[in-house]
Amino acid sequence: MDKYLTRLTDIYKAIDNLYYAAIKHYNFSCEGCEDNCCATKFYHHTNIEELYLSDGLKRLDKDKKKEILVRAEEVVKIHNSFPEDVRVMCPLNENGLCIMYEHRPMICRIHGVPYQMLTKNMSIEFGTGCHRFINEKLNENIQYFMFNRTVFYVEMAKAEKELRDALNLAGDYKKTTAEMVVSILKPATNK
Ligand code: SF4
Repeated sequence: MDKYLTRLTDIYKAIDNLYYAAIKHYNFSCEGCEDNCCATKFYHHTNIEELYLSDGLKRLDKDKKKEILVRAEEVVKIHNSFPEDVRVMCPLNENGLCIMYEHRPMICRIHGVPYQMLTKNMSIEFGTGCHRFINEKLNENIQYFMFNRTVFYVEMAKAEKELRDALNLAGDYKKTTAEMVVSILKPATNK
């Protein structure tokens, strides 16, 4: 599995590098943001990202894993009982910080700044950035920093396909972070 983890590390590094260049360009920061995006219900679409998160979670001690699993199950329950846009803190966030920062999924790394992306039907999708970015920066008349997500999604899709072929995985993958955590930790803590 190491080769898939290494591959994803490279994709994540490329995302992080571009993201940091973008926030530097905009002089933008998440610090002190009250609209914490870790409370957003994001979905993830690849097994390979679950594998990567699993690699981080397995390093935690047993008690911490149990603690996180309890929180994750609670978040899943809330997500299932309330409207799609319900906001509830990610089970991996402790005191405002991600405890799996090095292993966090792509959307956690990429969300926030304006972007563009080529869609499957060959149109270009533009994103305005997060609420804070819109509130603080959109009226500053700053030049757009080219943030093209396409290459990251393409590389991620290629890596995912290779993993799926190797493990004979079928079907769509769509999970929140909380659901990922439950999938990873539930069997382990039941042993
Ligand atoms: S994985 Fe980490 S960065 Fe992503 S939402 Fe959860 S706490 Fe936030």
